[in-house]
Amino acid sequence: MREHLIDSLSVFFPAYNEERNLKETVEMAIKVVKNIAVNWEVIIVNDGSNDKTKDIAQELKNEEGRIKIVTHKKNKGYGEALKSGFYNSKYAWIATTDADGQFDFSEIIKLIDKAKKGYDVVIGFRINRQDSLIRKINGLGWTWLSNLLLGINVHDVDCSFKLVKKEVIDKISHLESTRGGMISPELLAKAKKSGFKIAEVGVHHYPRIHGSQTGANINVIIKSFVDLIKLWQKLK
Ligand code: UDP
Ligand code: MG
Repeated sequence: MREHLIDSLSVFFPAYNEERNLKETVEMAIKVVKNIAVNWEVIIVNDGSNDKTKDIAQELKNEEGRIKIVTHKKNKGYGEALKSGFYNSKYAWIATTDADGQFDFSEIIKLIDKAKKGYDVVIGFRINRQDSLIRKINGLGWTWLSNLLLGINVHDVDCSFKLVKKEVIDKISHLESTRGGMISPELLAKAKKSGFKIAEVGVHHYPRIHGSQTGANINVIIKSFVDLIKLWQKLK
């Protein structure tokens, strides 16, 4: 692995009931980030978990002082967890992906290489997405509709693996998405509207081995569509 690819990097993981995934995800990310960034922090956003996520986060922090924990007393949803991550990140670049082991954090190198070519936001697209057929179809429809209404033109609007310049977060209007899956289209649409450059990179996707997914919950899907229509009306 190359040394110090980037000057400073905040990495955050949204985590809701990830007691069986969090330790491995964070420890692997730290191994990677130590080699690529001079200054770094890892933020665990504990989104109101009711399993041992809180204790595991604390144990990790006791071992590595550069870990920060942001706690939601109650579960607020993926969108709010991402907002807490973005708004608590202090370094010039911010990387985020899931805490559930579905992505390989070492692939951040590909996103950094892409960003260095002059991009402000780099979003992954899942190569061989490891989800059920119904979720894949749903995902294609969601990406199609988001592209159509918001003009963002990406392949996989919901891919959680992202690298974002902090300047983007500081400059765009406050992110509003809450429980649904709207946070990613909102971020991309607002970044594009403010003139930031967006690029895409293929990343591998792995099945969730432990814990349970939330992205297919019907209220998450409904809330996402309602939020999308609202944002479309606002931005058009
Ligand atoms: N997550 C969260 N709050 C929630 C639901 C999920 O912080 O209310 C986290 C979760 O722990 C994981 C990431 O968001 O790290 C993606 O969630 P999930 O795996 O359920 O989504 P999917 O991969 O099924 O789309
Ligand atoms: Mg997942």
